[in-house]
Amino acid sequence: MTHPAQPKASHFINGAYVEDTAGTPIPVIYAATGEQIATVYAATPAIVEQALSTAKAAQKAWAKMTGTERGRILRRAADIMRERNHELSVLETYDTGKPLQETLVADATSGADALEYFGGLAGSLTGEHIPMGEDWVYTVREALGLCVGIGAWNYPTQIACWKGAPALACGNSMVFKPSETTPLCALKVAEILHEAGLPAGLYNVIQGMGEVGAALVTDPRVDKVSLTGSVPTGKKVYAAAAAGMKHVTMELGGKSPLIIFDDADVENAVGGAINGNFYSSGQVCSNGTRVFVQKGIKEKFLARLAERTGAAVLGDPQDEATSFGPMVTENQMNIVLGYIEKGKEEGARLICGGKRADMPGFFVEPTVFADVTDDMTIAREEIFGPVMSVLDFDTEEEVIARANDTEFGLSAGVFTNDFSRAHRVIGQLEAGSCFINSYNDAPVEAPFGGVKASGVGRENSKEAIKHFSQVKSVYVRMGDVEAAF
Ligand code: NDP
Repeated sequence: MTHPAQPKASHFINGAYVEDTAGTPIPVIYAATGEQIATVYAATPAIVEQALSTAKAAQKAWAKMTGTERGRILRRAADIMRERNHELSVLETYDTGKPLQETLVADATSGADALEYFGGLAGSLTGEHIPMGEDWVYTVREALGLCVGIGAWNYPTQIACWKGAPALACGNSMVFKPSETTPLCALKVAEILHEAGLPAGLYNVIQGMGEVGAALVTDPRVDKVSLTGSVPTGKKVYAAAAAGMKHVTMELGGKSPLIIFDDADVENAVGGAINGNFYSSGQVCSNGTRVFVQKGIKEKFLARLAERTGAAVLGDPQDEATSFGPMVTENQMNIVLGYIEKGKEEGARLICGGKRADMPGFFVEPTVFADVTDDMTIAREEIFGPVMSVLDFDTEEEVIARANDTEFGLSAGVFTNDFSRAHRVIGQLEAGSCFINSYNDAPVEAPFGGVKASGVGRENSKEAIKHFSQVKSVYVRMGDVEAAF
């Protein structure tokens, strides 16, 4: 019997599901059981061509519609997503393995937020009038054209919407390629957009591995590439886009610091560390995986952390009582277990977890290491799993220098009851998305993105509009033209 997660076809092009079984089969594995629940086929060159040519052809008429008309469609799509939240959350759980307890409140809902927010902004995208004596200059905010979105596997619905909503609001078309690991949810986003009235050809989804992404990025018809992925992939995609002088947004990895001063509220600090390390089983780019704890609060913090981490409920992710799911794939589980072994070998003190959970699926126990030092592998490399490193510190100056001693710069957090210190410290941290007495809140109203190797550009908020549009300036002369001859 066909599993309910099996999509109607692999791709969504020109307003309809399209299949081409000549492409490489991609099995979709449910991370909680290891069973294959669906199959999609990677895009063949013919499918890539169909998606690009259809998106290119549809864009101009879309850009000519008023922003209010475009926005109305996006807001209708947001309403449909919210109505179908349960069904979409169940699918997100099959796609990623994340517990339903999370997906019900974090995935289709945040996708709907993006559609609603950018739908609301679409009608207010205007230029400026710049007086020049009798003459004047006016500016027009124009669409870029054809945009490509490429997603990571941790938030397949959210990423499809975070890229699609601002792109469409600005009058662009999009071809979106999900991660081969989680190909299911973006198809639903496309389906819902079209149900909401999006004209055919404007939001297309095609499947495939890195080579399909590379074919999209290098196509001369593409004006912009927005990638969510790792730093090594980001470097390749950025370089390929540069060869064609294309616009880019790069949302890449991190090894973010979470700094806990000894005047912090211990319960809140522990809660922040749990949210910043164990949500989505640690598969979150902005996670605060280097938890710097001031020595005065360290033992109290570790004791409560171990106690509360012990309350995580591992189990069937479709059961709403489960609060902690598996790694997305067996491969990712093995990578994470490898890092845990490195932590032990290099002398970090294991506080809790530290192994594969004794159950079916790709579960790794939520793991905390204490006495981690800056040079240990687990403190330097992005693990993308539930492995928290706790490091000690004495002074504010010392912790700022150590927090910044990394190639990454996605996020940073500070817990303290001294608000001048909180702002002073955040002001010196090299990171794009920061938190005070909180961690990992990412509402659509706030810009999101990194500095240093963690990325280029920003998603969400009014900032995203700048990255999906460009400004034309027009000088208007009222008098005669003077010329030298
Ligand atoms: P990858 O970098 O492996 O892949 C990202 C996407 O790029 C996938 O769809 C992948 O295809 C595709 N891709 C791979 N090679 C190329 C290429 N040469 N040209 C074009 N596309 C290509 O990341 P993961 O999927 O493993 O996701 C985890 C990473 O994503 C982590 O580093 C994490 O920090 C980061 N991330 C960043 C976020 C942010 O907003 N800053 C949010 C979420 C995750 P395929 O995998 O199908 O081969």
